[in-house]
Amino acid sequence: MTGVVDAMVVDVQCVFQGLEGVAKDYHTELITTNERMRITGARHIQFEEHNADENAREIIKLAIDNFTKRRGEIYIPQHKSPLVAGFSHEYIRYMLGGRFRASFRPLNDAIISGRIQGVAAIVGCNNPRTVHDENIMYLVRELIKKDVLVVMTGCAAIGAAKHGYMQPEMMEHAGPGLREICEAVGIPPVLHLGSCVDNSRILTILTEIVEEGGLGEDISDLPAIGLAPEWYSEKALTIAVYAVASGASVIFGGVGSPVGSSEEVTRLITEGWEEKFGARFDFISKKEDILAAVLDHIQKKRKALGIDKKQERILFDMEMRRELRV
Ligand code: SF4
Repeated sequence: MTGVVDAMVVDVQCVFQGLEGVAKDYHTELITTNERMRITGARHIQFEEHNADENAREIIKLAIDNFTKRRGEIYIPQHKSPLVAGFSHEYIRYMLGGRFRASFRPLNDAIISGRIQGVAAIVGCNNPRTVHDENIMYLVRELIKKDVLVVMTGCAAIGAAKHGYMQPEMMEHAGPGLREICEAVGIPPVLHLGSCVDNSRILTILTEIVEEGGLGEDISDLPAIGLAPEWYSEKALTIAVYAVASGASVIFGGVGSPVGSSEEVTRLITEGWEEKFGARFDFISKKEDILAAVLDHIQKKRKALGIDKKQERILFDMEMRRELRV
């Protein structure tokens, strides 16, 4: 809608067929590149791995040729917002312990002491039936205020980045405990972990936290939860299911539950899965109710781990650290 997009290239991600109609209102050339994702009216240039260079050149040439067809008013928003991205589980280990002592120990200690109350992964889509980014940003703001470390992926992460929440300066909006950790480590209170297919990285981080010791025996013991406050895509649903099967509870917000009309299925994915995997899949529409459920979940997990009371800071010696790994 800026009027300056000369070509747009899509593959098999979440793209609607109606995009071609929007592109036609401008001069934009819409190009599909995957056999499984054709769009009526769009140009198709099949991506061949052994011919990738040539495919790319063809697309770039098309875009350059299309430049002269720009028409109408051009609108480029002046608002810009920097972000710090790239927090893989390897990089978080490095940030927490340096090159020679890379470790999740400082994060575990911060959770045990209560300076960080828990971890919330806010991920997933935007949904045309909800106000864009409203639920996502409400939860980001409120959770960091309550000392919950937020990690993000996918379209939700871009929402937080647009609002400036993915830069270290935002630590001033965090609660005192989370802020202390962010200042010491030099990270923002909201970490960008990648695209929505990188949600597996979040599970890797949760696994590393469990392995580090002191916070239970399984992902389902952790004061951690996954949220997709404005979900729409079946891909998001699939990701939620594998997160729950791995032990991480998930809440979807915004629109209602697609299985809400069946009491039996709803019982299965909530209580049933909780019995089986230690984690449940809930659909909660209102953002305020999601926040209350997240804080309740985190406090329940902290209580079960026996870390719900404020603790004195203890300096661990090597012997105590070795004990934790047993
Ligand atoms: S977050 Fe949702 S809309 Fe965005 S790429 Fe992932 S599944 Fe698609």
